Amino acid sequence: KRSWLARLKSGLSKTSSNLTTLFIGARIDDDLYEELEAALLMADTGVDATQFLLTELKRCVKDQKLTEAAQVKSALRQLMIKLLEPLQKPLELGRHQPMVMMITGVNGAGKTTTIGKLAKHLQAHRQSVLLAAGDTFRAAAREQLTIWGERNNVSVIAQESGDPAAVAFDAVHSASAKGINVVMVDTAGRLPTQLHLMEELKKIKRVTAKAMADAPHEILLIIDGNTGQNALMQVKAFDDALGLTGLVVTKLDGTAKGGVLAAIARTRPIPVYFIGVGEQIEDLQPFNAEEFVTALLG
Ligand code: GDP
Repeated sequence: KRSWLARLKSGLSKTSSNLTTLFIGARIDDDLYEELEAALLMADTGVDATQFLLTELKRCVKDQKLTEAAQVKSALRQLMIKLLEPLQKPLELGRHQPMVMMITGVNGAGKTTTIGKLAKHLQAHRQSVLLAAGDTFRAAAREQLTIWGERNNVSVIAQESGDPAAVAFDAVHSASAKGINVVMVDTAGRLPTQLHLMEELKKIKRVTAKAMADAPHEILLIIDGNTGQNALMQVKAFDDALGLTGLVVTKLDGTAKGGVLAAIARTRPIPVYFIGVGEQIEDLQPFNAEEFVTALLG
């Protein structure tokens, strides 16, 4: 099996080839900047981050009197690393007992898969884990979570039907009583109306705080790295409603364009705790700005 970095590179290969070929044998002129602008926009970087990078790059070229396209490319590389570095922050463990994490995201983003991967990651760091099936809306979500729980030897608190906030409340109580280190509360990704969904998530947050004073300690949003600017809109909406503490960007091994991270860094610099680079349980990696930009620009 290929390494996760190879899979990340291959996932980002289209963006990477668009971005790198335009520098080959190029002169530093308006054409180059125009091509770069187009390539960045195509890569889901968004208008704001694209303009920011171009302005900074032109300033760099001028200040450092760069004369070769290869130097411009390295300057872009440095700028991108600097832009993305604020997103690089590890998920800190062991500060709360139990640590309560609410896991949110729209259906299909990779929420259940990420919970499974996270359970394994946490266990590898000597944390015991309890899962709460807070998506009481979809029976399939509960079943999938139970399967991930069995694979990881982790208990899952679920109710046939009922109130997601009550499931979360029970899970926090149970984890406190049993001395479990981390509770992950799965949540619904789609309800009849979007407004309804946010209200339900806010209620889970409120009720969790009744079970444990400063909970939830982490509110994560899982976004699909292939959905570009749409993912950015999700980040804004969920952050406005809940106050996100972290992101996980999934499916970066597929055909993701990658630029959305720059857009996130400019608009909502919320830590990207992990990236998803495959469907298997071990395919979760801490986000590292330099590795990511190297996959994009070499
Ligand atoms: P949910 O609806 O948000 O819970 O999404 P799921 O966890 O069910 O994931 C939806 C699909 O995306 C499944 O087929 C997963 O295997 C797949 N998936 C999730 N994360 C990744 C990833 O990092 N890479 C790839 N290639 N596929 C992923």
